[in-house]
Order: sequence, then structure tokens, then C-alpha cells
Amino acid sequence: MLAETKMIDLHDLTLDALTAVCQTWGYSAYHAEQIWAGLYGEGVTAVSQFTNLREDLQEKLAEHTTLTSLQQQVAIDSSDGLTRKFLLALADGQTIETVLMQFKGRWTACVSTQVGCAMGCVFCATGQMGFTRHLAPGEIVGQILFVNRALAENGESLRNIVFMGMGEPLHNYDHTMTAIDILTDHKGLAIAPKHITLSTVGVVPGILRLAEEERPFRLAVSLHGATDEDRQKLVPPARRWPLAELMDACRTYTKARNRHIFFEWTLIEDENDTPEQAHALGQLLQTVDSHVNLIPLNPTLGYNGRPTQRPQVKQFQAILAEYGIPSTVRQRRGIDIAAGCGQLKATQ
Ligand code: SAH
Ligand code: SF4
Repeated sequence: MLAETKMIDLHDLTLDALTAVCQTWGYSAYHAEQIWAGLYGEGVTAVSQFTNLREDLQEKLAEHTTLTSLQQQVAIDSSDGLTRKFLLALADGQTIETVLMQFKGRWTACVSTQVGCAMGCVFCATGQMGFTRHLAPGEIVGQILFVNRALAENGESLRNIVFMGMGEPLHNYDHTMTAIDILTDHKGLAIAPKHITLSTVGVVPGILRLAEEERPFRLAVSLHGATDEDRQKLVPPARRWPLAELMDACRTYTKARNRHIFFEWTLIEDENDTPEQAHALGQLLQTVDSHVNLIPLNPTLGYNGRPTQRPQVKQFQAILAEYGIPSTVRQRRGIDIAAGCGQLKATQ
């Protein structure tokens, strides 16, 4: 007996996977490309909207497939107009946040990969809410299609994508990589991999997989502590993957891919911003090709810490420079609408 067949979400499929599906139905790669052009060229939002397909293929799609639909619940702009946060509802009623940020006239989308997060970093609003579920590839790609439409309304376009929204992308490895393959496909949205940055809390098996696969996006690893003891206080997964293992994985990655890694460090006053900690970080990164992004703590309801003050941030940077390590202080964006790093939580 045939099992009941599940509807296929076309946004979950890479072009190769879509081609395979078409072939099982007796259609060719050419037909898959027509569907692909509808999805990522014309931006159809319902299976009934394809205009370029044979009638029998159109019927097949109507019978067996759906498209991801993300419904806007809320859109809020920051007071300076440079950040826009969207609360989007998924088909099962769960909600996620996607943020658009403007830097020097260009837009960056910060996308989510999970509803909530299982990693539990103490200063992160997403961590504070716990884990609900992984996003499907189409739900990740759908966020980009959504912001593309929002930008197009004002004649603007997207330049960069950062996987720094809700969730830990390497905990949802396969779906995140499928989404990246879809986003970067030359025949589709064709987003350049160098315009994509993926940030991980330091999931070692995921970093080792990335080292073996050729996807030339940029990798960022969140550290926040340069000794296991310091790091474990802030980042629970540090117990599972001690720094020695994490740094080994990072070295494997930089060597295999011949790329540097961005290390992120949320600066919390009197917690991880002392000169000793800056020296410890400098020493830790001696043998990795690295760049440090410093993020003064953004407020969240569940954590009482304060952001490091400017003079101490400068001093931290100066110490890293002694070790030859370049660093950048992340611009504060969207704090008034809780759209800054670590403030994302799927509520209004
Ligand atoms: N899960 C991934 C990506 C999402 S978080 C990761 O942890 O890397 C993106 C960045 O924001 C991470 O570096 C994270 O540590 C940082 N962050 C989390 N909460 C923050 C907060 N309250 N203030 C500043 N940065 C924060
Ligand atoms: Fe998850 Fe990243 Fe937040 Fe940690 S900082 S809880 S890994 S989203």
C-alpha cells in the first residue's frame, strides 16, 4: 500500500533536488529550471502563480507541492531608520525574527535558523527562551525572499546575509547548508558566498564538516572567554567542546579552506573585559588566522550584566593589537527595538 505522500515544499529544495523530483515525475532538468526561474527569478509566492510551465506540470505541482509562506506579524523600525525588525509567523504558528540593517547605504539581513536555541548562552535572549525546533531550509530561504520583497518596495536591494539571528546554525547543519546552497545558486538568487557570514557558538563537529566542504562563505566563532573556566560561565556548550578542541577545529578549518575566522566576543563589564582576559585572548589566537569582532553587551531581560565602557573597549583592542590581532567594534544597531545581537526573541 502506498504511504500517504507528504506535500513537497519547493523552497526546501536545491536545484539538484528539484531536478531529481521532476525526473521521478518524468520531466527533465529543463522543466526543473523553469520552476527554479519562477521561484527565484519571478519570486512566485503560490504554486498557482507559475506562468511559464506546461499545464500538466502545473497540475502536478498543485497536487504535490507547496511553497514556504512567512506571514508578517509585526515590522518595526529603529528610531534612526537604519534597522528594521520583522516578526514572521511560520506555517505551524511558531514565530521567528529577521532583521534588516543598513550600513553605508547597503542592507544586511540577519536571519534565524531555529525557533529558539538549545545552547543557553546566559546573556542571549534567544538562549533564554530555550529550543523549540529547527527551521526547514525553505523557512531560512523564505526570510531572504521576504526581505528582498520588502526592500524592492523602496527600490533597494540586499547585499549581505549574516546567520546571526535566532538559533545556532551548526546545530541545524543540514538545513542551513541546503539554504546556503539555494541562496548562492548561480541560476537563482546568486548571492555571493563572500557576502554571507555564518556565526557559530563553536559546535566543533560542525566546524570540522565545514572544513571538508567547499562553501566559501565567512565563518565567525563566538568565544566570549579565553579560558575554559571563564567561557563555561557564559556559554554552556563550552563544557562539551573545551577550548583546546575548539581551537584545533578552527586551525583545521583555516588551513583546509585557507580563510581566516572572525572571533566574536561580547564585552561585559567586569566579566570578560579585563586586561588579563585580553592578553589571554591574544595568546589563544596566536596560532589562528583571525579577526576579532567585539560586541558591547546588549541588554536582555534575563541577564543583569552591563556593556563594557568605551575606554576599556579601546584598551582591550590595544592589547589584542600587541599580539598582531585586528579587531573591530560592532556598531550598535536597533537596540531601541530589541533587534541587536542577542536580543532576538520571538515576541513583540
Ligand atoms: N548562535 C550563533 C549566532 C547567533 S548570536 C552564535 O552564538 O554565534 C550572534 C552573536 O551575538 C553571537 O556572537 C552572540 O554571542 C552574540 N550575542 C548574544 N547575545 C548578545 C547580547 N546580549 N549582547 C551582545 N551580543 C550578544
Ligand atoms: Fe544560541 Fe547563539 Fe544565543 Fe548562544 S548566543 S543562545 S548559541 S543564539
